[in-house]
Amino acid sequence: MIIILSSDTTDEQINKLKDHIESLGLTPHLSIGTFRTIIGVIGDESKIDADQLCAFPGVSSVVPVLPPYKLASLDAHPQASVVEVGDVKIGGGHLCMISGPCSIESAEGLDAIAAAVVAAGANILRGGAYKPRSSPYAFQGMGVAGLKILRDVGERYDVPVVTEVTDPRNVEVVCEYADMLQVGARNMQNFVLLTEVGKCGKPVLLKRGMSATITDLLMSAEYVLAAGNQNVVLCERGIKSFDPSTRNLYDVAAVAAIKTLTHLPIIVDPSHATGRPDIIPACAYAGLAAGADGIHIEVHDHPEQAFSDGPQALSPKEFAVTFKKLEELARVFDATF
Ligand code: PEP
Ligand code: MN
Repeated sequence: MIIILSSDTTDEQINKLKDHIESLGLTPHLSIGTFRTIIGVIGDESKIDADQLCAFPGVSSVVPVLPPYKLASLDAHPQASVVEVGDVKIGGGHLCMISGPCSIESAEGLDAIAAAVVAAGANILRGGAYKPRSSPYAFQGMGVAGLKILRDVGERYDVPVVTEVTDPRNVEVVCEYADMLQVGARNMQNFVLLTEVGKCGKPVLLKRGMSATITDLLMSAEYVLAAGNQNVVLCERGIKSFDPSTRNLYDVAAVAAIKTLTHLPIIVDPSHATGRPDIIPACAYAGLAAGADGIHIEVHDHPEQAFSDGPQALSPKEFAVTFKKLEELARVFDATF
């Protein structure tokens, strides 16, 4: 950690700072420059609070050397982590293709969509049973009845299933039926929920909040890791922007950037990122090229009848064509679905 002092800091203020650093078992190294003086702090950075240091008179700014997400960082774990969901591996050259409808609507409906996406190559089935909707009057999901359908259909087609958990009180029941728990964009900073999914031990699909920085996302992952669950897969699903041309701003650069910071796998969700079936395939290819460890695409066989997110659903046929190209592209990057 480096403490940059103000130009008018007094010797007394510097001595107070040095005493504070030493009292924590760390070593201060003073470096007096022509215009500025800095103090390098040698030792375990986790013992010292950067915000507290900033509050000392005479301190201009504090620059941590290590990232605040200790467990998620590449320093902690230099190799890419591989997360297993059922027998599907995600990370380190193993790709997942998560697909299915936005919401679970009926047993027959999910069965038909699952048959199509699994035949086309999807290796994880998705479907929401608890839906975080902007309107309290919109379809909120089938709840436990939906979870049962998802489990049943997943078993029939022999694929693991992922579904969103929106409430810490439902973590236990969702764990009973799902192979992977999704924490959605709106709940990315629901720290109670993150801790609960951390304690449950099941793989977690953590979506980036729509106004979250990359550091925010990694700090949320840190909550799950710190609770003892190492099975975290990140997901770029678009962030808020001023431009209404797409549902959100698909931050594909974040995928490449996140790869330089963490060992955790990251996948892309061009469905929620763009909201546009006409450009979802192109954005899926871009995600893979940026280094994503998997793709998440919503599919519906009757989008006009979907209970949620119908306008962004790919048809099963469009999905099949897209997945074929993704498989070809994966070969270029030495990765396999
Ligand atoms: C979803 O997966 O259907 C969903 C609501 O996702 P997000 O949290 O990314 O909006
Ligand atoms: Mn959706």
